[in-house]
Amino acid sequence: MTQEPTKFSRIFAYARFSSEGQADGNSLERQRQDIEAAVRQRFQKDEVAGFDITWLEDHGLSAYHGEHVTHGWLGDFMDKVRTGKLPKNCLFVCETVSRASRQGGFVLLSMVHTLLEADFSILMLQNGTLFNRGSVPKFLSVELALYAELAREESAQKQRYSLDNWERKRRHARERPGQSAFTGECPNWLEVVGGKYRVISEKVDSIRDIYLKTLDGYGIDKLVRYANQARLPVPGKGDTWHTSLIKRVLNNRALIGEFQPHRNAGRGKRLPEGEPIAGFYPVAIAPDLFFAVQSLQAKATTFPSRRDDNNHNYLMGIAKCECGGSWRWMNKDSGKQRGYSQYGCSNRQRAVSACPNVNGRLFDHTFVTWALDRIPELLSSGDDPRRGRILSLEAQFSDVSKRKAKVRRAVEVSDSLAEEFLPRLRELVAEEKALQTELDDLKSNAAPAAGFSFEEAAGVFLPAYLDVFETGTPQFDDAYRARSLFRSRIVQSVARVDVSMDRTKVTVKLRNDKVDSFEIEDSKTVTFGVPELTPDEWAQLDADRSEQLRHGRRMSNANLGEL
Ligand SMILES: [Zn+2]
Repeated sequence: MTQEPTKFSRIFAYARFSSEGQADGNSLERQRQDIEAAVRQRFQKDEVAGFDITWLEDHGLSAYHGEHVTHGWLGDFMDKVRTGKLPKNCLFVCETVSRASRQGGFVLLSMVHTLLEADFSILMLQNGTLFNRGSVPKFLSVELALYAELAREESAQKQRYSLDNWERKRRHARERPGQSAFTGECPNWLEVVGGKYRVISEKVDSIRDIYLKTLDGYGIDKLVRYANQARLPVPGKGDTWHTSLIKRVLNNRALIGEFQPHRNAGRGKRLPEGEPIAGFYPVAIAPDLFFAVQSLQAKATTFPSRRDDNNHNYLMGIAKCECGGSWRWMNKDSGKQRGYSQYGCSNRQRAVSACPNVNGRLFDHTFVTWALDRIPELLSSGDDPRRGRILSLEAQFSDVSKRKAKVRRAVEVSDSLAEEFLPRLRELVAEEKALQTELDDLKSNAAPAAGFSFEEAAGVFLPAYLDVFETGTPQFDDAYRARSLFRSRIVQSVARVDVSMDRTKVTVKLRNDKVDSFEIEDSKTVTFGVPELTPDEWAQLDADRSEQLRHGRRMSNANLGEL
């Protein structure tokens, strides 16, 4: 082909979720790897936006990849293409034409036409063809239309089966809410008494405890240790807690009363089917608490690559290097010598950039000093009970949007489904609008105030940061807790931190959209290490620290009440 552009401004790749999941070797992960490999093989890095691929995926189940994933892509993406919202010279990569082709040849050809008109180039891995408006291969349109018509036949069969099955289950569930016989399985925190669900209060108490600790900044591993040490009653099989149980507990919508019908996809796989049914189970966790935790998790999963179990990197998931890499904390010394920790960026660690590291103490000192000075000022001071409400609304909004996207896809797929789902779609649109209105209202009337004293949190953090405690001592736990507290306060007030590539300038965006920046000056004289003290002075410092830490704990509990 002669008119291939040499550089693409963005790459969009489309991967299809197979209903058989991993089992048929057609997982999203496998497709992603193939597509990435093909792109890397075919192009130089500077030709294709540095291999930075935006994924368009074809199933709502694949949420939270921590990457830029666009759901409900067909509608949203094509809208953007049509209205010229995307840059010129993009590349669209897909493996097969099967998704679009469910709607038949005309629809597929019209999509291809729209992409070409918008100056897209298209790479089809199925037959290895790369083309743009000026270089469409002969008979390609016929070939594509043929694929599409064949695939439409095949998927029409599947849909008929799926719709019947779902209808039957849904009718069953709606006719018999609150009954135990329906699913043959019952959440572990519930029991069946006289044909009705009843909450087992000790199990629900421990679940609630886990939720509160999550808001307080506990990570999964820490939660597991905590739950086992405190011997919390286990809402599951066995009598100890483990990682996957915690994860299930933190995501289970049955806790807010919802029942999600599933269908059997073969080989032991179960897939959700249709809309969840609200009010099916008794509500065990207040929805506001549930959604506040979902919101924190959604934020955390943008950066799942590396655990920082001791909360040393209080900016994990918030800070980015100018080159796009994420901000990493690295401990260079494993021994007694302190002050050798460093921050750097993930791209440098992966050896794809040469961004310099920066001394950990220097950075922390500068950041904490700035934070103490500026954050309280930037946030409106005083308590604001609306904060929890905003978190909750944000999570509900994102939830409704995802469901809306799912339903909209169903509507786009076929006329019979459209008839079925359009009323639901209208409901979801209205729900989304109402949530947006309330959010706008809350946000515009006042800055999302902190609801905590930032100075206090930092005051607790600083001594703990010295980290002179031995692992396994009660003091060590306090230090952990203090760091966790500091981090949770940072996460609540700071939306994003950008560090310049030369490590001299840091720009901070707060959750109320205010922006501030400061400079890092490498003065070698950072007075932020372990001071040299006499044993008496150490004792006094320990006493002060314990007092501060106790204070920190009270403060933390008080704040939890608001959420
Ligand atoms: Zn970098």
